[in-house]
Amino acid sequence: MLEKAPKMVLNSEAMGVLTIAGSDPSGGAGIQADLKTYASLGVYGCAAISSLTVQNSNGVYSVQAVKPELVKEQIRMVLADLPISHIKTGMIGTSQVAEAVGECLAEFKGTMICDPVLKASDGHDLFAADGLASLGEHIIANSTALTPNFTEFQALTGIVLNSDKDLSAGAEKLFSQYPRLKAIIVKGGHRNETSPVVIDSLFLRDGLKFRTITAERPRIETTNTHGTGCTYASALAAYHLKTGYWPQAFQQAGDYVAELLKLSCDRKMGQGTGPLWHHLYKEKDQS
Ligand code: PLP
Repeated sequence: MLEKAPKMVLNSEAMGVLTIAGSDPSGGAGIQADLKTYASLGVYGCAAISSLTVQNSNGVYSVQAVKPELVKEQIRMVLADLPISHIKTGMIGTSQVAEAVGECLAEFKGTMICDPVLKASDGHDLFAADGLASLGEHIIANSTALTPNFTEFQALTGIVLNSDKDLSAGAEKLFSQYPRLKAIIVKGGHRNETSPVVIDSLFLRDGLKFRTITAERPRIETTNTHGTGCTYASALAAYHLKTGYWPQAFQQAGDYVAELLKLSCDRKMGQGTGPLWHHLYKEKDQS
């Protein structure tokens, strides 16, 4: 059951989301997926590039980090000019870039969503081996919301997930480690890949209280899943900008990705794992 959001807190048309992430020249993941998501949801999007990847639907071939100073300048120049209410981070790539981005985030007063990207689904590392600690110290420590998938959640918490109890224990561990975090969304797509349903979980911190909301949807059989994680986190940022409310953003971002998976499942773009077709999305009246 979708909770009703309190009155809208921001004029969403006058504000924007800044993505800090890697570039995927094939347009399926990274900043390209994020900007398509914002455009299809009617939210202004802009992007600072942290890393260049060489990839297509068959996989990632190589990765080149952008100089940390240059990443910082991109972010600072955008924030100095545009009314950015939300920042979303994706692939950060190296500890040096994480540190530079962290300096900018520490000064940012808006809402910050971290998608803790560590590996591509073909197994290619998208963060240097020493990255986990610096992702925590510089990016997650400055984040309001975190959107790990199952594998990332286990890596971040050090907890092997066997039950829902382990999931809650992991969320509480992250909340106590990172005082700025208000929402943790664990995406369920990779939890039990033979299950006919996918269950996403939202853990919320409200003062000293915690609560959990889950969303269960039928699994959509498709191989066109490239960039689904990037798209989910961007949709969360866009819907949070529109509603100011995590339960609603959680529900709507999940519905949006499910709808895109359905719209894209019979299409062919590239020879490997196909992308989502954001451009086919038509927003439904949410009132
Ligand atoms: N490339 C970039 C630049 C990304 O940011 C990501 C994921 O966040 C990926 C590739 C991985 O995409 P996927 O694992 O969905 O293929």
